Amino acid sequence: MTTRKKARKKTTQKKSGRAAASRVKSARSGTARPSRARAEGAVRDLLAYIGEDVGREGLRETPARVVRAWDEAARGYLEDPVALLERTFTETEGYDEIILLTGIQFVSHCEHHMLPIIGQAHVGYLPARRIVGISKLARLVEIYAARLQVQEKMTAQIASSVNEILRPRGVGVVIEATHQCMSGRGIRKPGVVMTTSSMLGTFRTRPSTRAEFLSLIGRARRGRVVE
Ligand SMILES: [Zn+2]
Repeated sequence: MTTRKKARKKTTQKKSGRAAASRVKSARSGTARPSRARAEGAVRDLLAYIGEDVGREGLRETPARVVRAWDEAARGYLEDPVALLERTFTETEGYDEIILLTGIQFVSHCEHHMLPIIGQAHVGYLPARRIVGISKLARLVEIYAARLQVQEKMTAQIASSVNEILRPRGVGVVIEATHQCMSGRGIRKPGVVMTTSSMLGTFRTRPSTRAEFLSLIGRARRGRVVE
């Protein structure tokens, strides 16, 4: 936030007293959450906006269904990646090679259009002291996928979570995905796969580690195609 905006906000709070101050606070901390009924009403408005008859039989349950679908698609906001990885690590007992999980399938939604991003993630790290069960890496991808995303941001979030919590010698994350907002609308380019990567620690500084990581991914996914 710019200094000017901050100053303006302060003045507004002073003028309209405590109620306004707490409204600003709750909006900023994300707790001013509308009710389910209001969310369903918003879906009904959207249906009416696109020219639908919201009263017709086939659409009667649609607002409730859409909101339930979004409960599922956005469940990642309720889960804490730190708690997931922190609870579960064990000591390495001397293992010091790359640990890699490839082809973690995910469905996310882009924050610009709320349309699906479908793809797979490859997550690898070179442990220092801590390792986690490999299923936890898949769960980590799932937590970040179940939020509104930008592929670059999701890639960096996964890498920095592993980096900060497990404190490995290095971590690498590669994500390959198709974006429905690209294939289904706008420039309409079906089949375009976007690849992003985030390399930290030795994966960034040591070309041999990075090369080993990338060749392990290549070997693991040979023959596999992102749809
Ligand atoms: Zn989009």
